[in-house]
Amino acid sequence: MGLKKYVVVPPMEGALEILREIAGNMWFSWNIEAVDLFDHLDERLWEGTNHNPLQTLVKLSSHRLGEIQQDVGYKAYAERVLQRFRSYVRSTRSYEYRLEEPIDFTTAYFSLEFGVTESLPVYSGGLGLLAGDHLKSASDLNLPLVGIGLMYQEGYFRQSLSPEGWQQEYYPRTAFDTLPIEKQTDAAGNTLIISVELAGEPLWFRVLRVMVGRVPLYLLDADISENSPHMRSVTARLYGGDMEMRIRQEILLGIGGTKALKAMGIEPATYHLNEGHAAFTLFERMRYFIQEEGLSLEEAKEMVTSQSILTIHTPVPAGNDVFDRGLMEKYFKKPVEDLGMNFDSFLGLGRRRPQDYSEGFCMPVLGLRMTTRANGVSRLHGRVTRDMWHEIWPNANMDEVPIFPITNGIHIPSYISGDLHKLCDRYLGPGWTEDPDNEKIWLRTDQIPDTELWRVHERCRARLVNFARKRLIKQYVHQGASAREIQSVENMLNPEALTICFARRFATYKRATLLFREPERLAAILGNPDKPVQLIFSGKAHPADDYGKELIRRIVQHMKEEPFLNRIVFIEDYDINVARYLVQGADIWLNTPRRPLEACGTSGMKAAANGALNVSILDGWWDEGFLGDNGWAIGSGEEYDNSVYQDDIESRALYDILEESVRPLFYDRGDDDLPRGWIRMMKRSIGTICPVFNSHRMVSDYIEKCYVPAARAYRELRMDNFAVLKEMVAWEKGLKSDWGKIRVKDVSIKNAFDALKGKMVEMVVRVDTAGHKPHEFKVELLHGPVDLWDNFKVRHVVRFQPDPSMQSNGDVLFTGQIELSDTGRYGYVVRITPDNPNMPLSRSLDLVHRS
Ligand SMILES: *Cc1c(COP(=O)(O)O)cnc(C)c1O
Repeated sequence: MGLKKYVVVPPMEGALEILREIAGNMWFSWNIEAVDLFDHLDERLWEGTNHNPLQTLVKLSSHRLGEIQQDVGYKAYAERVLQRFRSYVRSTRSYEYRLEEPIDFTTAYFSLEFGVTESLPVYSGGLGLLAGDHLKSASDLNLPLVGIGLMYQEGYFRQSLSPEGWQQEYYPRTAFDTLPIEKQTDAAGNTLIISVELAGEPLWFRVLRVMVGRVPLYLLDADISENSPHMRSVTARLYGGDMEMRIRQEILLGIGGTKALKAMGIEPATYHLNEGHAAFTLFERMRYFIQEEGLSLEEAKEMVTSQSILTIHTPVPAGNDVFDRGLMEKYFKKPVEDLGMNFDSFLGLGRRRPQDYSEGFCMPVLGLRMTTRANGVSRLHGRVTRDMWHEIWPNANMDEVPIFPITNGIHIPSYISGDLHKLCDRYLGPGWTEDPDNEKIWLRTDQIPDTELWRVHERCRARLVNFARKRLIKQYVHQGASAREIQSVENMLNPEALTICFARRFATYKRATLLFREPERLAAILGNPDKPVQLIFSGKAHPADDYGKELIRRIVQHMKEEPFLNRIVFIEDYDINVARYLVQGADIWLNTPRRPLEACGTSGMKAAANGALNVSILDGWWDEGFLGDNGWAIGSGEEYDNSVYQDDIESRALYDILEESVRPLFYDRGDDDLPRGWIRMMKRSIGTICPVFNSHRMVSDYIEKCYVPAARAYRELRMDNFAVLKEMVAWEKGLKSDWGKIRVKDVSIKNAFDALKGKMVEMVVRVDTAGHKPHEFKVELLHGPVDLWDNFKVRHVVRFQPDPSMQSNGDVLFTGQIELSDTGRYGYVVRITPDNPNMPLSRSLDLVHRS
């Protein structure tokens, strides 16, 4: 029997009663007035609890409690915030009204991590932050969306550094009882307890609910007394343990999460998998359709595919979860065979080449095969992922691979400083939070007076410097530093100096130490007494990545020595809180990945929203965000085979930018000491980046391109007791068996052949349809320029129509016109694919003919 615990909460009257209600929802985390309320209670406590509202209330001294209860002004302010909160969560303005034809597109969003705010430590980095921002925008837009994730007792590791700069990991337990978490209950009011099978043994779990504004986030928790200690550890740590732990967590997320939705009576129309981690939901839903709805295997597969969406974040195959045959056998052989499915064909769904038995079971491959839409997270990453997964559709051209880009965005109010928030309210109007994808609103940035914008920014920089010093003192004390050393922190950093921040995971490809390639040159840049420049670093290396840790160690060494002493600092334990200080106080946000390994990156967007200027390799989002005058690009998008050479070239380009552009512009001050040119660029950066790289735009893209089409296809297929589905699957089967006979017999050009620019050319394609009707196919002509090596680039796709007046010998003639728009060498191919509006694109590309 474990120790039973309880938390004593102070009597909640007056203002405190109000605070408790506000503390019960993550809404506070993106509302500055709400944050101010808690900050005002006890600033040190608020900071000390890492901005945890309930914990702050619980720990408040009785003296301060009494003061607050007497404070009439405070109570009035709290009431105003409460009114805003209530009208937000109760608003009935749903998203549906924006759709021409309303449809219920209730979406379940699965992710192994969610970064909502720093006091809920179930995230590690970008993937989680993105998931958190997705929920926040879904809440603002009032979408029918729920999040599904895991509740980790120890979250992701916390970082501290040894005096030598070597990363140490530690894992404090999360105090659940001071988080705004509700246990889900069943109809009888008992805690809802569900189980999944792990290799024949039940894993029990409960469902905890966190409200993110109007959107519920359900976190599954296996740390309950029904489980043996071994089983309870499944939700101990995010990304902790070996591959077996990973498969257990992913079974819990995918299968357990799907079961939990069902137990709670939630019936999503679409399932969105944030990365391949949750792809086992596809299996569980297949099981559901077969065993509970009586569908065949093929039918169940189509059903699941039609309503599922996958977002891919990794640009390299090694970054994906791959389970070996042994693990798959242990956990899936029996469940798969119970469905009447051949185990090897199931494994084939997770291989690029289904017949290649040497391949492991790759989660994103399963995801790609069984979702109707998949996307990369920036335009460049869309191309990279297409190339990476081309093999799954050997019949498709590279540019036909059904992976599309939806560029990530950030939830701006969650990252912007309180001061800038107020400035935006005043000069941009309320639209910047409600309608951030409206470009016109951001154009008003120009109307913010230079002095005001600069003053706000300088305040943020000073706050960052102050924060950094406080953290450094803590670090030094913890490391057992001497009093002199601790005192020296006072001299570290300069609140007025040009401040460059670099904060992200310490993965090798991000090249945290690129700036140190020529130490003398860097020293000269930082050390000019009239134009001082300083660097602030932060970030964690993966616990198993010694090389990443070595990079941190090197930076910490530099930090302690001349010529970098006091000009370079490293802040431990990067998290959302640290990130917020950095993006708000930075002048320059630096990013130096090896292109194209940065899938998107979002911290640069957060910095831009705060008026920092990006200096970055043209990779990820910056490849599309950089416009020439809203920041700086290192290089011009080259990719290199030789990494030493690349580092040489790119570090030099970076030094050049800092010496010739950044520093002079920053220190070009008039009589009023304002850097007018710099401020102009800040405004340009805010005005061009915010309207595009925000999560409202991103979520709207998902609605239009994924959720609504998937929900429609799903409803359609379900209709009349799956009649449409059954007809489609039968048709698909027939088409598949005849596919070998179907072919293009002839392509001819109707009107002459001396192709002239500007001329319309009519073409006729003769197809042997093996007895199938013309409307069962899409016949398209792909044409475009051909280079000297006969490489062909598809520029136009023209759909041809069957022409019944010309039928002959059982063949069908399709005709269409192409325009010869430019001079040069051109080529074309004809492509035949199945045509059925309900058939997922990924499936129709399994059957392709080209000639
Ligand atoms: C935004 C954010 C990230 C992701 O940013 P990148 O640019 O991808 O590094 C990671 N960690 C934290 C704490 C963040 O706030």
